[in-house]
Amino acid sequence: MAMWKEFIRKTIPYVPGEQPSDKKIIKLNTNENPYPPSPKVLKAAVELGEKGADDLRRYPDPEVKKLVQTLSAYHGVWPENVFTGVGSDDVLSVAFLTFFNSPKPVLFADITYSFYSVWTDIYRIPSKTIPVDEDFRIHVSDYNIPNGGIVIANPNAPTGISLPLEDIRALVEANQDSVVIVDEAYIDFGGQSALALIKDYENVLVVRTFSKSRSLAGLRVGYALGSETLIKAMNDVKFSINSYTMNAPAIKLGVECVQDREYFAECIRKIKDTREYTVENLQRNGFKVLPSDANFVFASHIRHPAKKIFEGLKKRKVFVRFFDKPRINNYLRISIGTDDEMRSFFKELRGVLNDLALDF
Ligand code: PMP
Repeated sequence: MAMWKEFIRKTIPYVPGEQPSDKKIIKLNTNENPYPPSPKVLKAAVELGEKGADDLRRYPDPEVKKLVQTLSAYHGVWPENVFTGVGSDDVLSVAFLTFFNSPKPVLFADITYSFYSVWTDIYRIPSKTIPVDEDFRIHVSDYNIPNGGIVIANPNAPTGISLPLEDIRALVEANQDSVVIVDEAYIDFGGQSALALIKDYENVLVVRTFSKSRSLAGLRVGYALGSETLIKAMNDVKFSINSYTMNAPAIKLGVECVQDREYFAECIRKIKDTREYTVENLQRNGFKVLPSDANFVFASHIRHPAKKIFEGLKKRKVFVRFFDKPRINNYLRISIGTDDEMRSFFKELRGVLNDLALDF
């Protein structure tokens, strides 16, 4: 084998959910928002097309000032407390690279967002997973061991279970020598944000995304909120890799999105209502459903294996997510769609369950 092949950086990549091109598919597999972006975003997108294309000759603002200012005003923090990136995956990746640089292991739950272990692997960060209990709950006292950092998804994924703010506060209080990242990708759908802690604790970083509650997964916008010290360190790393991560249309449309508070609140209300209906209906159809504060539910059927249900649904053009991993391989993660989509989902689900009962 040629020497250079030996030195290729080998890694096992994160596997995102499928993005099928067939528009007829009921797509409940990647926790996207079933509603379109704010009309303000759509209007700004049209204007961009008509007048703004010429501006694309220019580099975007590397400091992303307009979006940073908009987010700082929205959250009542200083611009120095805001970092932006290409989706929260980019923000989290920069945060891992910036803060997790100790020989001690970074801690995260065994059942959580599977990208965390991909980053610790590629950045060669020592890590240790902390098992959630048999009800998939995180116990923050389990994290009171020597560590080089902590990352918690709250609400957690793929379970949807959230931790109260007091637990996050206790976790931070007990880990003053580490950076604690709280990944709040789903916080707008329920649970208590750790944002209240960033003024009191210099070591807490809260990470958010426009991909779920703001219906902009395709635009790729994420951000982090934290002390000036944390944000400056992340910017130093970002500017050492790529100054222009955020493109000009993403900055412009992102600003419009944050300004439409009413539309945002309305979308969330609808998704929460549909979540309630979905949970009840799943229970009626023989599922055990974990308590969810997110825009998805994690559910296991009392009789039929998750993999079979997943495959049956897929044949009927309904996509949900199945993780073939220890402890969770009898669960399905089902994103909350519109009421119409969920009605179609249940129609097909009943078909699949009937077929499986006949096979039984
Ligand atoms: N954190 C969690 C817990 C997620 O589920 C996701 C979505 N895959 C992300 C972060 C990343 O989302 P995005 O990069 O679209 O902001």
